[in-house]
Amino acid sequence: MAQIDHIGIAVKSLTAAKSIYEKLGLGVSSEETVEQERVRVVMVPVGESRLELLEATSEDSAIAKFIAKRGEGLHHVCLRVPNLTEAVARMKKDGVRLVSEQIKVGAGGHRYVFVHPSSAGGVLLELVEAQETQP
Ligand code: ZN
Repeated sequence: MAQIDHIGIAVKSLTAAKSIYEKLGLGVSSEETVEQERVRVVMVPVGESRLELLEATSEDSAIAKFIAKRGEGLHHVCLRVPNLTEAVARMKKDGVRLVSEQIKVGAGGHRYVFVHPSSAGGVLLELVEAQETQP
């Protein structure tokens, strides 16, 4: 069963953006840099899901380009699926447009892929695989 893993929000400044959540009394994670996406992120747990605040670390980051074009705001929705390899194979077979053909491996070893907005009702869709709890 899929779940909303997190919602990604593009911001100019993590410090400025996270303050509203701190004021609301929510726990905000420490800042983490994701080199391959050229972003710094903080996570704000909300119930079983999270908000992911994204700040560009470089002009050629997708987040910098997004903000230049559309301003700060909602960037992507991330769903957690049971089997990412299977989901990607099924999407490719059906002609779904992916941002990159390969499943990427993120910090901490989680696997992810982005579905292009043109195949997802105008929303950039990130898919991650549910982490199996180790026996
Ligand atoms: Zn994300």
